[in-house]
Amino acid sequence: MYELVINGKFFYHGEIVEGHIGISDGKILEFSKSALKGEETIKTGLHEVILPGMIDVHVHLRDFNQKHKETIESGTKAALHGGITTIFDMPNTNPLIMDKETFKKRIAIFKKKAYADYALSFLLANNCEEAKNVNADFYKIFMGASTGGIYSKNFENDYKCAPRRVSVHAEDYELIQKFPDRPNIVEVKAIEKALTSAEKFKKPLHICHVSTKEGLSIILEKNRPWISFEVTPHHLLLTKEDFKHNNMLKVYPPLRTKDDLHFLWRYIDEIPIIASDHAPHTLEDKESGSAGIPGLETELALLFDAYNRGLLSLNDIVEKTSLNPAKVFGLKNKGFEIGKDADLIIVNLREEWKVKPEEFYTKAKWSPWESKKLKGKVKMTFLRGRLVMEEDEIIGKPGGKRIETS
Ligand SMILES: [Zn+2]
Repeated sequence: MYELVINGKFFYHGEIVEGHIGISDGKILEFSKSALKGEETIKTGLHEVILPGMIDVHVHLRDFNQKHKETIESGTKAALHGGITTIFDMPNTNPLIMDKETFKKRIAIFKKKAYADYALSFLLANNCEEAKNVNADFYKIFMGASTGGIYSKNFENDYKCAPRRVSVHAEDYELIQKFPDRPNIVEVKAIEKALTSAEKFKKPLHICHVSTKEGLSIILEKNRPWISFEVTPHHLLLTKEDFKHNNMLKVYPPLRTKDDLHFLWRYIDEIPIIASDHAPHTLEDKESGSAGIPGLETELALLFDAYNRGLLSLNDIVEKTSLNPAKVFGLKNKGFEIGKDADLIIVNLREEWKVKPEEFYTKAKWSPWESKKLKGKVKMTFLRGRLVMEEDEIIGKPGGKRIETS
């Protein structure tokens, strides 16, 4: 007898099959074609499918001195609402997470307030000794300034020092001074530099939000197993033309040309990870020029909408949003397998809904997708076997746990 059995169509080894998932103690314990006994059974409806929860490897949750923009509580609720069961917290907060004390404070808030599971990061910028004193789940380097204003003056030294995988924001600080609009070259030069160091040290490197044709090309050419990268839904779906009509779409790296966008889609099969770069600001902050857009509550739905338009397969979505992030970052208990955490979502692939940011959990009460109709909606989210979101409602208390790495 399992604590919970979910019955319906689910994703299994690249295919959608019909059957039953047995869950106890927060873990997936059995996949079965025949019925399983459960203390509780959930039967999914027509057009619904059970998929692994998303692991979003790029999320800014602010908090600390920027609670008006987002808190760990509001941001992790937004995550569950969007079908994301694990988030990777970024360290360019105020204060910056680049010393042991601040890192400890971050741990304490997450322990109390997180609704989703989480990985914690530490910012590297000439603070190598300090970095060795913390046991972060991943490390972040900015090669040029973004929100928070910090950047690494010596990428190679900082990268060399990192005890675990480094996520890098690849925009070159010197070129940003020269070209404040951050054209392609700003990203491409930084990616080249990062790849050169990665060749030298052969240490795990993750390149954030690749947005340019040339940048993607050189990463794919290198094709090294220790190098991973991500692309955001906004770079896949919006261009600089959209930004011309809407100032709110200011992001770093900026939106690119149609040509860049088409190139990303042409090589979509080679892109291992999709991540939101959820970067919430208040409306006032956006109007005064802050870069970044919220994404947690729309990103999976946008991908399901893309699936409905024939642009992506469900297998693509599952791999890029869940299986690959778990593999790349070595998450011990994540992955849609027997013995792993029962982090699941139930999605209605046919349901159409309108994006209404005023109903979202994020404190950024706006969205680039406002009023847009999307086809495909996350109906339920389960975190380690516990129903934590149903029909837009967050259920229960903060129950997020820090991930374990292998
Ligand atoms: Zn970011």
